[in-house]
Amino acid sequence: MNGAPREQGERVPFTTFSGPGRFWRGNLHTHSTLSDGVFAPDAVAEFYRDAGYDFIALTEHFWPAYGFRIADTRGLRRNTFTTIPGAELHAPANSRGEEWHIVAVGLPLDFAPRRDGETGREIADRALAAGAFVGIAHPQWSGLTLADGEALAHVHAVEIYNHGCAVDSDRGDGLVLWEQLLAAGHRLSGYAADDAHFATPDPGGGWVMVKAEALEPELLVAALKRGDYYSSQGPVLHDIVAEGNEVSIACSPVRTLIVVGRGQPSRARHGLSMTRAILSLDPFPAGGYVRIVAIDDHGRRAWSNPVWR
Ligand SMILES: [Zn+2]
Ligand SMILES: [Zn+2]
Repeated sequence: MNGAPREQGERVPFTTFSGPGRFWRGNLHTHSTLSDGVFAPDAVAEFYRDAGYDFIALTEHFWPAYGFRIADTRGLRRNTFTTIPGAELHAPANSRGEEWHIVAVGLPLDFAPRRDGETGREIADRALAAGAFVGIAHPQWSGLTLADGEALAHVHAVEIYNHGCAVDSDRGDGLVLWEQLLAAGHRLSGYAADDAHFATPDPGGGWVMVKAEALEPELLVAALKRGDYYSSQGPVLHDIVAEGNEVSIACSPVRTLIVVGRGQPSRARHGLSMTRAILSLDPFPAGGYVRIVAIDDHGRRAWSNPVWR
């Protein structure tokens, strides 16, 4: 994600793709027996290692019943697999009078329990101050309103796809809230995650590909905070280059590539097993954002983060 406003006609950066390093696959939101998940932490890590992930964050519910625990997952790290300490933070109450769910990845293990009366905004601010990547969890499942999103619009990201919520309640979407916040001028990235509890077929359906120079937790968190990642349910985004009024995309075989941005316009290209396309950026006004969506034959999507032009 790239912040500075740019002149019309100038190169539009998708620096996540042109920058140094490689993409690492990770799940930012999952649970184990340390809170309400079915599998022990080592079994969760084993599942994701075997599934080809490079890292996970065990984001246990930060509830008193579970001891306000930031899971110490350092013992689950291997040469080719790492973990980032995190949690799913909670506080009363969103605009519907229900509990906040806020994902924080990159928390210190001694992150303090929730204070009496602490609001969602306040605990999110504490996570930000502690250095974490902070995201608004499962907006559709939570029934979050735009006012709720505005209350947390200074965090890093919206959880644009939650696989567990999709599988178990058909409420996996976060795109609507994300786009409303983007339209209001907030510069948030968007991440997909499993929120796996392993009681239902909820693992392995949504992940992030984070661009970093090494598989180090600190580098991954820094990249997430910069928006140097994309999200996927299946498709691989190899490269996105935008220059002038065109964007060029290279990806795994897909049937649709779309560019969307501020306002109603979009541009789409449809085909059989497309691995490349060039789309026009003409419909998108300067001062707004653009982002890329890829959809494969199974309807699985990949989403780039927005860039501003
Ligand atoms: Zn939750
Ligand atoms: Zn969760």
